[in-house]
Amino acid sequence: MLSVSPPEFVDREFTKPLLCGPGPADLWPSVIEAMSKPSVTTMCEEFYHVLDDIRLGIQYLFQTRSKLVLAMSGSGHAGMEAIISNLLGPDDTLLIAARGIWDERALGVAKRYGNFTIVTEVPISNTFDFEHLESMLKKVKPTALFITHGDSSTGSVQNLEGLGKICHKHRALLLVDTVVSIAAVPFLMDEWEVDAVYTSTQKALSGPPGISPVAFSARAEHKIKNRKHEPPFYFDIPLLALQWNCYGNSRKYHHTISSPMIWALRACLQELAKETLQKSWERHTRVANHFHKRIQELPVKFLITKPEDRLSTVTTVVLPPGYDYLQFVKYMREKHNILIFAGLGPTVGKALRIGIMGVNSTIEVADALIEGMTSTLKGLKKSSL
Ligand code: PMP
Repeated sequence: MLSVSPPEFVDREFTKPLLCGPGPADLWPSVIEAMSKPSVTTMCEEFYHVLDDIRLGIQYLFQTRSKLVLAMSGSGHAGMEAIISNLLGPDDTLLIAARGIWDERALGVAKRYGNFTIVTEVPISNTFDFEHLESMLKKVKPTALFITHGDSSTGSVQNLEGLGKICHKHRALLLVDTVVSIAAVPFLMDEWEVDAVYTSTQKALSGPPGISPVAFSARAEHKIKNRKHEPPFYFDIPLLALQWNCYGNSRKYHHTISSPMIWALRACLQELAKETLQKSWERHTRVANHFHKRIQELPVKFLITKPEDRLSTVTTVVLPPGYDYLQFVKYMREKHNILIFAGLGPTVGKALRIGIMGVNSTIEVADALIEGMTSTLKGLKKSSL
């Protein structure tokens, strides 16, 4: 006897908003098309070629010649968990440079793997200077430093150029979150001596969430080969490297990789190769500069004080006194069908988070946001009088 009856699925009406939060962004039309391609099994020739294309695309994306590049099945957190759990065990110390929620998440992940953790902070409207980080590296002597490149909770971008060298001088690896910066903000893994990096597809790559590219340097690879701990089976990079044929000598089944995600990632990387990294960086900068200039027409303030610290993909603004962040977001959705977000983690109740990235990084989208925000500021003022 069945004790549970089949559910009735009601198709509710859904008006898709323009996605201008800190992610996900809208999808490239080619990505939507790619996701409906035939399902291919993990162990067939056609799939191997797609995986090979993706590895080349990821090397381009991160600007690395490392062989140890692949994509984790799962959203950005899978990448975070993979780099931490593969590189650090209970005998290791992770130094976390904290300025937003992602560093808090890294702390939560590292603790679960028994890593010893030390957190160093700056106020949420700032980024780190290298003197601060170097003095912590000297004092703590960690196995690795974790830092977020673009922080979507605060809207800041951290300078990384030269940080890898400093970490290596102190025998620490450099681990970087590039989820909301990759393809929008310059990032050069090899040149900047980054040891492990992860990203996700749903931001400036304009893909769906669910697959997370990662890459490891030769130093990181050496650490993985000589480690004494075991990461979770699903995240075990040496096993995944066999499935992804990172060393050109094996195609060994590890788990069934989702083919719609694989097709989508390939299409995202193909879009980027067509546009080129330089042009994509330039487009995101140009649109952000335009948006940041026009934002100054409104009675709002930037959360991030220094213009050079402002992230091009996510802008955080402080509303004038008397406005409620959640009401503002609701009004933008209801009256303008634009989805923006209120604060997250340290910015809850302190800022709006407005995302312009990927396919949405255009002057038209930036102008639509300014119009929507202008009318929302007026509309909410009236309703509260
Ligand atoms: N890092 C950053 C900078 C992010 O913006 C996000 C997602 N908003 C994550 C990590 C986590 O990614 P996901 O939600 O895809 O797991």
